[in-house]
Amino acid sequence: MRESKGMRTEGMNGKEQTAEQIVTRKHTSCLRRGFQVWPELEYGKPPALGDFRWTDDLILSTWKQAETGRPPENGLEYRVGRSGGGFDLLDFKFPGKEKRLPGDVPVDLRLGLNRRKRDRKIEIPIPFYGAGMSYGSISERIMLSRARAAQEWKTFTSTGEGGYPESVAAYKDHVITQVATGMFGVREETIQYAPIVEFKYAQGAKPGLGGHLLGDKATSAVAQMRESVPWVSLFSPFPFHSVYSVEDHKKHIDWVRTVNPRALISVKVSTPTDIDMVAVGSYYAGAHIVHVDGAYGGTGAAPEIAKKNIAMPVEFAIPRVHRYLEQEGIRDDVVVMASGGIRTAWDVAKAIALGADGAVLGTAELVALGCTRCSNCERGRGCPFGLTTTDPELAQLVEPEWGAMRIGNLYRSFAWQLKEILRGLGLESIAALRGRRDLLVYRRAAGKAGGAS
Ligand code: SF4
Repeated sequence: MRESKGMRTEGMNGKEQTAEQIVTRKHTSCLRRGFQVWPELEYGKPPALGDFRWTDDLILSTWKQAETGRPPENGLEYRVGRSGGGFDLLDFKFPGKEKRLPGDVPVDLRLGLNRRKRDRKIEIPIPFYGAGMSYGSISERIMLSRARAAQEWKTFTSTGEGGYPESVAAYKDHVITQVATGMFGVREETIQYAPIVEFKYAQGAKPGLGGHLLGDKATSAVAQMRESVPWVSLFSPFPFHSVYSVEDHKKHIDWVRTVNPRALISVKVSTPTDIDMVAVGSYYAGAHIVHVDGAYGGTGAAPEIAKKNIAMPVEFAIPRVHRYLEQEGIRDDVVVMASGGIRTAWDVAKAIALGADGAVLGTAELVALGCTRCSNCERGRGCPFGLTTTDPELAQLVEPEWGAMRIGNLYRSFAWQLKEILRGLGLESIAALRGRRDLLVYRRAAGKAGGAS
């Protein structure tokens, strides 16, 4: 194939194409056909797809939602996995048809991201946004796909630690700039035009381990953005060596707000046992958003030994944070976002019922783009579907328009399901669901989740 790159031939549309373009087009169309056909179950389910958290049903139903903007109606379980714990054992206690809101009553999904009396107000129309994934861990095209979807839905995506290429700057009003321990890609101008700056103190999938970008993925463009050397592995230390107290943390926030006084501050933390104290400290240091990242997040790039084995599951962390902030009398002054294992619209609703204000989606967006959870993100050339890769050939498999369409459709399906859940519960707004643990039931035996009836 490499030798034939220069050969030109006429394509179906009459335009000349190189052999490489033809191979890419064939490969891409076969992959996309697969994303459409498998969820139809015409050939059953693909063998060995998924695991107990991201089951074959959840992966296929996410592909279906990314295609159609609605959950599947062919029996695929799109609400829970089979982990035997956490969100998979929680269900909603629907009060009955007489309490259900009629279809003509509007349901409000809006979420304000600044509850303080001062500073600018930012509101998103859906109670979720995209999680940090760095340039280098994913390709420029995936960043663009996520940013376009965020713009379309008037919500946000996050850069992760690694800055962002110039092409993403066109969507800057919908891009959260992340500042993490390696300070990779952090520039004065990216802070100046960020509506939200996110300090990543830890990641739920690998707390205490910092970040690692394999040398194979540190291409010239990625290395330039990170002010490093191409093809050299990059480590972000743990923790910030300038932050050992709430006062140090406040200095960081003051620094960002000096550069950009209009920026809201989000603080991303993992879930140690004293997460409640961390949340309160973050608030008093000046954070507008406390982003609680539980143990189940992370792409295939997070080491297996760390994933699920170190931090607390987010289902335990959220109520703990919510209650402590209430006891401190500051719950209505700070926004709590939950991530690290939010796979479905039902997980979003359950996280909010446990006490979060909204949720942050990471892996679910990658699954919408075709991720099979194969854990190959950090091996060789990276993702065979062109997602977590910087290989220029593999990255061709995703066009930003196609990617944005898929993520946007997933958002559409989530928004529709959230409204149905709220209608079933007789609630007129997502804000009214916050902290309503009384609406949740614990299902001892794994089985089907109840529907919004
Ligand atoms: S499909 Fe790609 S993004 Fe998903 S786990 Fe495999 S390598 Fe990673």
